[in-house]
Amino acid sequence: MYMKKRIVILGGGESGVGAAILAKDKGFDVFLSDNGTLNPLHASTLEREGIAYEHGGHTEALILNADEVIKSPGIPPTAPLIQALAAQGTPIISEIEFAGRYTDSKMVCITGSNGKTTTTELTCHILRAGGIDASVAGNVGRSLALQVAREPHDVYVVELSSFQLENMYDFRANIAMILNITPDHMDRYDYEMQNYIDAKFRIIRNMTGEDAFIFWQDDPVITRQLERVASAARMLPFAEHQEENTAAYVDAENDLIIDACNDPMKMPRADLALNGLHNLYNSMAAGLSAKLVGVRNEDISRALADFEGVPHRLEPVAVIDGVRWINDSKATNVNSCWYALESMPESKTTVLILGGKDKGNDYSEILPLVSSKVKAIVAMGLHNEKIMEFFGKEVPEIVSTDSLQAAIAECQRLSTEGDTVLLSPCCASFDLFSSYVDRGNKFKSAVNSLNQ
Ligand code: ADP
Repeated sequence: MYMKKRIVILGGGESGVGAAILAKDKGFDVFLSDNGTLNPLHASTLEREGIAYEHGGHTEALILNADEVIKSPGIPPTAPLIQALAAQGTPIISEIEFAGRYTDSKMVCITGSNGKTTTTELTCHILRAGGIDASVAGNVGRSLALQVAREPHDVYVVELSSFQLENMYDFRANIAMILNITPDHMDRYDYEMQNYIDAKFRIIRNMTGEDAFIFWQDDPVITRQLERVASAARMLPFAEHQEENTAAYVDAENDLIIDACNDPMKMPRADLALNGLHNLYNSMAAGLSAKLVGVRNEDISRALADFEGVPHRLEPVAVIDGVRWINDSKATNVNSCWYALESMPESKTTVLILGGKDKGNDYSEILPLVSSKVKAIVAMGLHNEKIMEFFGKEVPEIVSTDSLQAAIAECQRLSTEGDTVLLSPCCASFDLFSSYVDRGNKFKSAVNSLNQ
């Protein structure tokens, strides 16, 4: 008797539900299991689609009989169920790997420790400005699998975290970017940096000579790894200043040059919509990929100049009594805070809000910038001891708070006209908030209510 192949999806978030729909459309026997509570919208989608599911726990008998498992990136490989599946040899893949089997659309794939979302949105914005049918997928936007199943596009701009990359095998990116690699999620990688680097570099697996790899030329981690791994892809490095083979850089006249194909694009750096050195890099990477996809120079420069930015990334909130308030809630690691501080004024006028759930942070990276630019630190979290101890002697003022309201009150007390209050916390948000979005939104509304 013919038996349909059974696909079990673990995790019923945006990507899991999308994978379930694609699997159903492709004729598999589909079952979705989530040990938490499903968002009611996702549950009703599954019901409408007639897809079997459970939540609030995993029934092993309904999972261990899978022919293949699609795992949510949030479930660590050490989870007992994943270990049991691996032990019996069941293939475990990611939603992106699964979706990639059913589409020939062009894949522009973006990873890095910082800047992924900004660069993904910016790339899609430029491609659309060039008249291309592009859509974002992966960590942002709608699930890739869902789009492949129900609303296909010519080009997908896919944001990939290291967690997603872990379960990718045959997927091929046509254009891949690694923006930078600095320590992050060390708790998930046995505190071994190389494990994290290897996960990131899975993005260039399967690339051929027709494909292109865009990366930051001055990142020592990337360049060292490139000496160890071979790739047939065309190499397109970007850097602030032109070096050997640099494909995007700023020239002596302060113009941004993007030189991927014949006919380089040139525009004044000052016209870029996004400020800060990190965003120069993001603009270079996005511009290079757009050039490769065939967007005209004038469309690239216009789109780089009129991009509106992404919320919670160095987002200006308000100016109150001459004090600028900035929401960089997405800075959940030390390196992204480094770039936020880098873009602050040279004088000691920044009041910095740090704190939350520490992922194994080493604060020494930001110490020089903190010493030169920060007048006060307001720690905001349930476990501020590490921050208080590390920065205690480094800044003129440091206070510990355990709520947003208290932190904002301290920032008001510590700031005067001309100062900037910067929420760039270096930490995940889960001690006081449900997510970085929740943290950023609550920060913005609290700041805006100071205005009333
Ligand atoms: P990701 O999606 O990788 O988390 P985002 O675009 O959401 O990246 O930006 C997260 C934070 O990282 C922002 O707060 C920003 O200040 C910082 N950042 C953005 N781009 C870069 C970059 N290229 N290098 C370092 N830090 C960056």
